[in-house]
Amino acid sequence: MNVLVCGGAGYIGSHMVRRLAAAGHQVTVFDNLSTGHREAVAGAELVVGDLLDPSALAQLFGQRRFDAVVHFAARSLVGESVAQPYLYYENNVVGSLNLLRAMREAGVERIVFSSTAAVFGHPECEPIDEDHPTRPINPYGASKLMVERLLADAAQAYGLRSVSLRYFNAAGAATEGGIGEAHEPETHLIPNVLRSALGRGPALKVFGTDYPTRDGTCVRDYVHVDDLCEAHLAALRFMGETAGAHLFNLGNGQGFSVLEVLDAAARVAGAKIDYETAPRRAGDPAVLVASSRKAREQLGWSPQHTDIEAIIASAWNWHRAPAY
Ligand code: UDP
Repeated sequence: MNVLVCGGAGYIGSHMVRRLAAAGHQVTVFDNLSTGHREAVAGAELVVGDLLDPSALAQLFGQRRFDAVVHFAARSLVGESVAQPYLYYENNVVGSLNLLRAMREAGVERIVFSSTAAVFGHPECEPIDEDHPTRPINPYGASKLMVERLLADAAQAYGLRSVSLRYFNAAGAATEGGIGEAHEPETHLIPNVLRSALGRGPALKVFGTDYPTRDGTCVRDYVHVDDLCEAHLAALRFMGETAGAHLFNLGNGQGFSVLEVLDAAARVAGAKIDYETAPRRAGDPAVLVASSRKAREQLGWSPQHTDIEAIIASAWNWHRAPAY
């Protein structure tokens, strides 16, 4: 297939580009490089451009014929979204709408959309399945939920086929090396823990030790980036046979607390990890664990990297000598 990957220079997108190229697909990346890295794009042509620029999209779709789009391009930090909601609604909602319009103009009828567990807000039960109510508690989650709704409406009105994949906590790096997670500033737990083990970056903070969990710290479901890529490939195959707009939650189904992640990271790094305790971070639910039963049943997806130490070890390989 000819696949357009929007946001293919970012963390998950760059892994997907490699995976698609390895599967023999022709890949074009469209990325504004606001948070992505040119060096992360391998095995694909990079077109630098912005989803907020309809003329750049018209040019892109005018020059190439795509069979499907995989759409990662978005702002994705909860705290930033609370401080700058317009930035989030503009990039994530208007940008996606521009992309969907350009797809429609060009007759491209399949899209895999990066959604998030943040669409759920505070969970009412665990694990979280696709029928769980969606009440996002921040603009980031709200912006992603709006696009899910757009996709449902587009399926109805225009016959657009879509799969929205709601990632829980994406983690790890390509097992064969070369690419990984590189955000500046970094806000995510595993990279911050590993940077701290390497003596880089600011002192590690554990946000909140008084949550109603087994050790007082937040529990999250960490899913390996390579497993997320396999789910996208499965979603592309699924859309070949299935019309409509579909939603899937993606996680390992097992939660680890912040302190459990620190312990596992200390074993991987062979070093004690120092940290300070800090107040709760605004907008962090105590526990987020996915039920991925639907993805297993309907996409035939089954995560291969479920061991937290192995997930962290792949990230450790990257963070010891990041290429960018
Ligand atoms: N966290 C932490 N220290 C950090 C970064 C994150 O204690 O430096 C906690 C955070 O409060 C949350 C968990 O680790 O409970 C996972 O946070 P992350 O930002 O990695 O992902 P999120 O769950 O927000 O998508």
